Order: sequence, then structure tokens, then C-alpha cells
Amino acid sequence: ERLISSEADMNEISLEQSLRPQNLNQYIGQDKVKENLEVFIKAARLRQETLDHVLLYGPPGLGKTTLATIIANEMGVNIRTTAGPAIERPGDLAAILTALEPGDVLFIDEIHRLPRTIEEVLYPAMEDFCLDIVIGKGPSARSVRLDLPPFTLVGATTRAGSLSAPLRDRFGVLSRLEYYNESQLKEIVTRTSDVLDTKIEAKAAKEIARRSRGTPRIANRLLRRVRDFAQVKGNGVVDEGQAQEALELLQVDRLGLDHIDHKLLRGIIEKFRGGPVGLETIAATIGEEAHTIEDVYEPYLLQIGFLQRTPRGRIVTDLVYRHFQIELPSQ
Ligand code: ADP
Repeated sequence: ERLISSEADMNEISLEQSLRPQNLNQYIGQDKVKENLEVFIKAARLRQETLDHVLLYGPPGLGKTTLATIIANEMGVNIRTTAGPAIERPGDLAAILTALEPGDVLFIDEIHRLPRTIEEVLYPAMEDFCLDIVIGKGPSARSVRLDLPPFTLVGATTRAGSLSAPLRDRFGVLSRLEYYNESQLKEIVTRTSDVLDTKIEAKAAKEIARRSRGTPRIANRLLRRVRDFAQVKGNGVVDEGQAQEALELLQVDRLGLDHIDHKLLRGIIEKFRGGPVGLETIAATIGEEAHTIEDVYEPYLLQIGFLQRTPRGRIVTDLVYRHFQIELPSQ
């Protein structure tokens, strides 16, 4: 398991639950998204209507699930949670939809992974709060319409582009979550240490924030590892030196890069003079799958300007040479 993976691991899920902010005021950052939601939620409440369907998209660990829970809390309704891959047959979805209470939030994580046949069941449910069910087979088959309670669908996806257009068009609110900046992450680390009843110095919180790859999930995970370290070594208050030392031991560098990032970047420099080099070639060189590189390793490196994608392949930028203190090759 990669310490700086932005996906939650199995042991983390219940812990994360306890760290989740419960209302919009406690949700740090994403100001534009919050402002919009605040207005829509207020308006829906005033009109005593259900909130329009909301699509949240952005990389893992940025707070989509958290926001879905907050939407339900702010609307004063229950949330039912499922995920695209968990719904295999139309009947699975029908069972979930018919069990909803009026006004409920239905959260579908990884909504881009819903099978197409199930998407089609969702369309009338989203538009008219009803289900069209086919009863019987062959010539005697007929379609029956079933009314559903009004509900709000909150969908989450890492890529808005991989959602089908007809599904995307049925969301009234589309919100893109952005990577967090250092000061927002510092606030999140500070808030989490309060929840965990851990004392941390401001500079230590900042050090963790800087290495968290713009991602609250990673910030919270690094904080817990640093806290373990400080508890064993220190006097109970996490200070900057301990944070640095722990993060060095954990092999997370100043920018939040780990040995895999290093292997990838150094590989391109040492074997291909910095590129351009094709994705498949990189994959073969460092012994990873091309799609893993593309989906998991690359996004952050592109985000911080360490990698560039060109039609001829990937190039490492001058920033990488500076980061590793390697001399730039002569042109
Ligand atoms: P996603 O669903 O996008 O993968 P989650 O909602 O599960 O991300 O968030 C991961 C963790 O990060 C949660 O434990 C949550 O406490 C924390 N988190 C995410 N966004 C925020 C935020 N804006 N403020 C505070 N904590 C956050």
C-alpha cells in the first residue's frame, strides 16, 4: 500500500467517518462549491422542495463523500449510500429507490461505473420520480409505471468526462472539487488533530499540509502516522522537527513525492534524457501498468508542473532537475 495513495484503504474507512465534518461551516475550502450549494439548499428548504440532483466530480480524497453527507444534514434528511459497481441489475436499483423516504439523499459513488442498462432505469427516476418496470416476457410483456418518493441523487465521479451525456444532463447542479492549497490543508490538519485530541504546533501542521498532495485524505493519514511517531518519541505535542523526521522516515519528500514518483521521474531523466517518451515505454521501464501511471501517478505530477504531456510523449520539466538537484542536460 502506498502511503500517499489518494484512495482510502479498508482500515481507514471507519476512522474517516469519524473525521468527517458534518455541516457546511466545518467543511474547509472549496468556497465556490460551498457558496453555490448553500444557495440551492436554502432555496429548496424555503420552497419545501427536494434539492436538485447534484454531481460532484474531482480526484479521490477531496471530500465528495463528505459533501454528500453534509448536503443530507443541511437538508435535514437521511442519506443512503451505494456505489456504481455495487448495482448489478435493474432490480438492485429499484430496491434502493423504492425504499427511500421522501426527500432522502441517495449517494452513488463512482457513478460512472453504473452499467448502461441501469442508467436507463435512473433517467425516469431522476426526471419524474418514477420507475418503468417490465412485467412478463415475450408478447405478453407490459410496462408498469411505479411512483417513487421525491429524492435527491448525489453522484460522485473522479472523471466527469467518463459519464454518459444523458446522465450528466439530468443533474441540475454540477460541482467540480479542486485540489486544496497549503493553508486550507493546514486548517484541515489542525481540525483533525482537535478531533483526535492531539496537540500539534502550527509549523508541524504546515509541514504535513505541504506534503499532502493537495488532498485532505492524505493530510489526515500523514497526520496519524506523524502522531504515532511523536507519541513514541516525544512529549505529546507534535512539533515541526518530529513531523519532518517522521515524514523523512516514511519516505514522503518535501513535496509529497514518494519512491514511486522518484522512480518514474528519475527513470525518464536517466534513460530518456528527460523525454519525450511514450507512456507505454515508461510503463515497461519502471514495471508498472500504463493505466496505473496515467490514473494514479501522473495527475499530481502534472498538477505541480513536474510532468508535461505532449503528442510525442511525456517530458519532465526543469522543476524536476531542480528538485533532485540534478544538472540540466545541455540542449
Ligand atoms: P472522496 O469521497 O472525494 O474520496 P472523502 O469525502 O471520503 O473524499 O474525504 C476523505 C477524508 O478527507 C474524510 O475523512 C474527510 O474527513 C476529509 N475531508 C475531505 N474534505 C474535507 C474538507 N473540506 N474539510 C475537512 N475535511 C475534509
